[in-house]
Amino acid sequence: MVAEIISVGTELLLGQIVDTNAAYLGRTLAGLGVDLYYKSTVGDNEGRILDTIARARDRADLILTSGGVGPTEDDLTKECVAKVFGEELVIDAASLEHVESFFRRRGAVMAPRNRKQALIYASGRPIDNPNGTAPGALLEKDGKIVISMPGPPNEMIPMVENHVVPLLTERLSGERQYLVTRVLRFAGIGESAAEHDLRDLLASTNPTIAPLAHTGEVHFRLGAKAGSPEEARRLIEPLEAEVRRRLGSHIYGIDKTTLEDAVVALLREHGRTVGAVEFGSAANLSARLGAVPGADEIFLGGILIPNAAAVCGWLNGRVSRELSGAALSEALALVARERLGADYGVGIAAQGVGRSSGEAHISVATCGGIDTRENHFVGGAEAIRRRSSQIALQMIRDSLLDA
Ligand code: AMP
Ligand code: MG
Repeated sequence: MVAEIISVGTELLLGQIVDTNAAYLGRTLAGLGVDLYYKSTVGDNEGRILDTIARARDRADLILTSGGVGPTEDDLTKECVAKVFGEELVIDAASLEHVESFFRRRGAVMAPRNRKQALIYASGRPIDNPNGTAPGALLEKDGKIVISMPGPPNEMIPMVENHVVPLLTERLSGERQYLVTRVLRFAGIGESAAEHDLRDLLASTNPTIAPLAHTGEVHFRLGAKAGSPEEARRLIEPLEAEVRRRLGSHIYGIDKTTLEDAVVALLREHGRTVGAVEFGSAANLSARLGAVPGADEIFLGGILIPNAAAVCGWLNGRVSRELSGAALSEALALVARERLGADYGVGIAAQGVGRSSGEAHISVATCGGIDTRENHFVGGAEAIRRRSSQIALQMIRDSLLDA
């Protein structure tokens, strides 16, 4: 089954609201194993809505629309679906009663134009909307399924969960497919280097593998589709094994595991502790470590300093206000180790250069010595802070894996 999503509303085109409905529907369809090749956003304009629906009819089996089923003049979705499919719109008595009772309960009189919300396709049926006035409308015609739903997410989502998913599950029985995905998260390797090493695998169609770039790290999503989740998982396994064979040491986690989660777990496993002194990174590393459940056992503390003078005099005067760059990050790492008593003392000295680039020195001090990396970043302040902490976490991870 091939689906198409149509989001209707000029406010979506103007960027006044974000099309969260389409994202939700995309996820839901993926979970059902329904193919989605296109989604469209169209304003409240009859001609363009007609075009969009006609195109979807020609290339999809299932059309899901959201928005444009309200009472006003510019709510045109059902009218346009009816035109494209040569269908009458008729008042559904139960839906009309639902709309009227909605007003009665609020002690208000229903304006005549609200009758429009009770219109459904003559050969179709309404879909309950307990959270709003406008019901959804289902049409099954010429081998196509069209489901028109209201725009507000708190109305559309329950409608999908309670009616659309069960309906599609029934229609798909037999051809029901399960899409299983697994995200492998990489640290310490850039997107292009990782892609280069996996390039021959990227052409595979079932299972598939695709890169997802994030700030400071790259993920690869593995996916497979099959008649059961177990079978889909079995398709992914050899692909994952091959990726691990090539780049396994860079894979720090799966799915939702973050790099800080992975580093905290490794520190706990090795019985090692960490402390940080940060300059210019807005305590990004400390915040990331501190947010991991169970980190209190291995994270001994974080110190945010506003300038080098703030720690001047520490370490028996070995930190002075003139320090900068690598000399500063190394001194901070030693402060972290000695003052906080941590096995891994991390010092970050980050500085924005202009508005959108910066440089940072990141040092990790252990009983074996100090390792320092220098990095130049592009991106705003937030990206510079995030990348600095990312590198610090990678350095700790590398050191623990070497140990
Ligand atoms: P409508 O049914 O087109 O009158 O939309 C009513 C309200 O639903 C809009 O003002 C938005 O707040 C919300 N809405 C409509 N479409 C979407 C969408 N695609 N994603 C998220 N919210 C939406
Ligand atoms: Mg609208």
